[in-house]
Amino acid sequence: MKIAMMAQNANLYSHQRLKDVAEARGHEFDIIKTLGCYMNIAARRPDVYYNGKQLPKYDAVIPRIGASVTFYGLAVLRQFEMQGVFPLNESVAIGRSRDKLRSMQLMARDGIGMPVTTFAHDPKQTEEVLKLAGGAPLVIKLLEGTQGLGVVLADTDRSAKSVIEAFRATNTNILIQEFIKEAGGTDIRALVIGGKVVAAMKRTGAEGEFRSNLHRGGSAQVIKLSPEERATAVRAAKSMGLNVCGVDMLRANHGPVVMEVNSSPGLEGVEKATGIDIAGKIIDFIEKNAKPGKTKTVGKG
Ligand code: ADP
Repeated sequence: MKIAMMAQNANLYSHQRLKDVAEARGHEFDIIKTLGCYMNIAARRPDVYYNGKQLPKYDAVIPRIGASVTFYGLAVLRQFEMQGVFPLNESVAIGRSRDKLRSMQLMARDGIGMPVTTFAHDPKQTEEVLKLAGGAPLVIKLLEGTQGLGVVLADTDRSAKSVIEAFRATNTNILIQEFIKEAGGTDIRALVIGGKVVAAMKRTGAEGEFRSNLHRGGSAQVIKLSPEERATAVRAAKSMGLNVCGVDMLRANHGPVVMEVNSSPGLEGVEKATGIDIAGKIIDFIEKNAKPGKTKTVGKG
């Protein structure tokens, strides 16, 4: 097969692993810098150009679109989809998962457990929104944040209000969430491929840190999920429409709650913690599912 991977940084562990596995199985594998692609949208044929050349017709495309290039990256991916190239994850599904409010609204609709979450645009509603979230301690999150940056724990209503006001002054969108204290600075990442959990790890934050992100000094260990946790991860992936994703959950007293669904999960932490060949499973999925025209976006607006 001819596989393209959209990625800004070819050297990342995840990207190298996918390339190595695909090539070892005899596939052609091109890493294409997302922002280096350009397109002629007016033409009848939806071509994609790169480095002065028109890209060949691929059998599958692996979108590894960084959060900071979502808007342009999704446009490039749609162009591939309109050519009938099979996307590992559909542009529409990635778009859903990248929008924190949209994804939480969809998961709530589907009855998936989540921390109580509130948001408002008007600063006059701050007190009301704090109350709706159940009062301090509260977690305040920037909607555009990643890797744990822009996630703040406010121990009192007063500090919550100051943090909200400070964020508002910079004109950023935020959401306010109940603090799941019993999670104890540990979260769960379940890797879902094709509607099944293929690996799971727990990530524990550095001493005194409530955020468990590996980028914030957290450490990862393999864990066994409960049937309820597995089912929750699978339902979250389905709610987003993602074939491959990392579902981040917290263990709350009343069961698992989903914080986020990541459409380009990093492979290094989970492969090293679990010893499972995730890259191999992703390429398996492509081998089984890639067919020309098998995309929801082809021919659509
Ligand atoms: P990011 O998308 O930037 O990684 P997250 O929403 O995943 O931000 O939050 C980062 C970390 O903070 C999580 O992995 C988790 O450990 C902790 N955390 C986030 N929300 C809550 C919450 N409501 N209650 C307890 N801990 C939380």
